[in-house]
Amino acid sequence: MADQIVTRFAPSPTGYLHIGGARTALFNWLYAKHTGGKMLLRIEDTDRARSTEAAVAALIDGLNWLGLAWDGEPVSQFGRVKRHQEVVAEMLARGTAYKCYCTPQELDEMREKARAEGRPPRYDGRWRDRDASEAPAGVAPAIRLRAPLDGETVIEDQVQGRVVFPNKDLDDLVLLRSDGVPTYMLAVVVDDHDMGVTHIIRGDDHLTNAARQKLIYQAMDWDVPVMAHIPLIHGPDGAKLSKRHGALGAEAYRAMGYLPAAMRNYLARLGWSHGDDEIMSTEQMIEWFGLEAIGKSPSRFDFKKLENLNGHY
Ligand code: GLU
Repeated sequence: MADQIVTRFAPSPTGYLHIGGARTALFNWLYAKHTGGKMLLRIEDTDRARSTEAAVAALIDGLNWLGLAWDGEPVSQFGRVKRHQEVVAEMLARGTAYKCYCTPQELDEMREKARAEGRPPRYDGRWRDRDASEAPAGVAPAIRLRAPLDGETVIEDQVQGRVVFPNKDLDDLVLLRSDGVPTYMLAVVVDDHDMGVTHIIRGDDHLTNAARQKLIYQAMDWDVPVMAHIPLIHGPDGAKLSKRHGALGAEAYRAMGYLPAAMRNYLARLGWSHGDDEIMSTEQMIEWFGLEAIGKSPSRFDFKKLENLNGHY
């Protein structure tokens, strides 16, 4: 079944399943169901300081309440550190990554200088072609991607259209920190590749990451998944969604008496449409869902509409 579509929901367990995450999970779930594919769940718990077991439990609880079942076992990103390190070793061997022996002070100076000259704070590539024999004693290297210096990286996004990033803006990002810890950017790519993810559907706050991630795929000669970056949910006033306007966790909605079917219906309509249909059964949403009908502008959360819908269930 090489053609089966595989989506994933990849939350960071740092809090509850918030409304934006719930919608991302729903879109991934609907797309997998619509195409007869799978939706996988990956817990992005590499940030040890911020990830908690309670948050993992809250995420799983929220998904269960919303009826968004994933396929297979949840994958812990932290549990895959060895594999991430292996991939970096392979990139070093291929020459698509290199060791950078800059000290924190040097990096600070580089940033300072760029700021003073009115340039964005980019790594200047000073270790791209230097030999480890020149390394200062006692400095453990970080591993950086050897990113292309010229040209552009293009994301053909299913929602945003063609998005072009000049490569000069995507500097040699760190893949492995000097303490051997893989960066988020690397881990996401390795995990999506290994999990066989064909479609990445997530918030458009990750669009710039997508270009950087594409460079990592290319450095490994891996197929780049199809991408769909959904505009974030805004408040009724068009500003960033505040708590007062709905930026709450799934359990808060449950406690307020909203029903899972109403939530699914409401969240599906937040950014996706099927004609003028407002009330849709889950079966209908599965039948009709498609990436092409996801809107390009941010949707606005409206408690009244959710309230109305809840009355129908
Ligand atoms: N863990 C990221 C987040 O919670 C999502 C990463 C991704 O979908 O690629 O925002």
